[in-house]
Amino acid sequence: MTGISYVDGRYVSHAEAFVHMEDRGYQFADGVYEVIAVYGGKLVDEASHLDRLERSLSEVGIAFPGSRASLGIVLREMMRRNRLKHGSLYLQVTRGVARRDHAYVDAMRPVLTVAVRRATPPLRSASLAGYRVISIPDIRWKRCDIKSVGLLPNILGKKQAMRAGAAEAWMIDEAGMVTEGTTSNAWIVTATGELVTRYLDEGILPGVTRRALIGFAERAQMPVVQRAFSLAEAKTAREAFYTSATAILRPVIQIDETKIGDGVVGPVARRLVDAYFDALETV
Ligand code: PLP
Repeated sequence: MTGISYVDGRYVSHAEAFVHMEDRGYQFADGVYEVIAVYGGKLVDEASHLDRLERSLSEVGIAFPGSRASLGIVLREMMRRNRLKHGSLYLQVTRGVARRDHAYVDAMRPVLTVAVRRATPPLRSASLAGYRVISIPDIRWKRCDIKSVGLLPNILGKKQAMRAGAAEAWMIDEAGMVTEGTTSNAWIVTATGELVTRYLDEGILPGVTRRALIGFAERAQMPVVQRAFSLAEAKTAREAFYTSATAILRPVIQIDETKIGDGVVGPVARRLVDAYFDALETV
């Protein structure tokens, strides 16, 4: 994160972007967040991200910071002040600052912070390389549909993946089903050509990229089924991949020690990557 950040009503140098130590986000992970990709100076899927932010906030009883319109102004001002063309915005809303106490008072003033991450424009080639994932037990809480800043299981899982030389870890529930990646949604393509991603409930995050890709697939008349799939099924799938706002789509060519399909990027992943990038480049 570089340049200018936004902290609770003020634009400040990133080096001086501090919150109070009794911010409940810091002490209790009592807050939610969003990561919105920026492409060509525009926010990608802004409405879906703000809808999800609104929902996360309402599920944990934190007030929306200002209005949707005022938040939109802050996000645009952050892109302008940072001359951000490509990268992402990280926004976080915590319940606010108060003397440390598990019980919070109602109607606290939420604290909004926003930071930018500069990046080179995403490349189709990154989405047409093969990535490895490992499987790990899903040890998270039972409300993974809320984009909470409480991410300890995710960060430990991601580190485990890195240590294993893999790009992502897919989390497996007690029934042996794949829930999602530590920072992404999981997909497979079955032997019959069915595109499968887990249904939405409280077990996974409703990914904005997942939703966009379901739209692209349906418009291209590719059959999409939202159902649970097991790790065993994933290992015998014809293709597998994962999606997120910043990674877009990453084809999976190996899960644990098992090669997926022919061990190369498959045609379904290619079609979806093309559809996504074509849309991104014509906005
Ligand atoms: N699942 C988890 C746990 C995530 O952290 C993320 C993104 O960070 C996703 C899924 C993908 O969501 P999106 O496509 O909105 O980035």
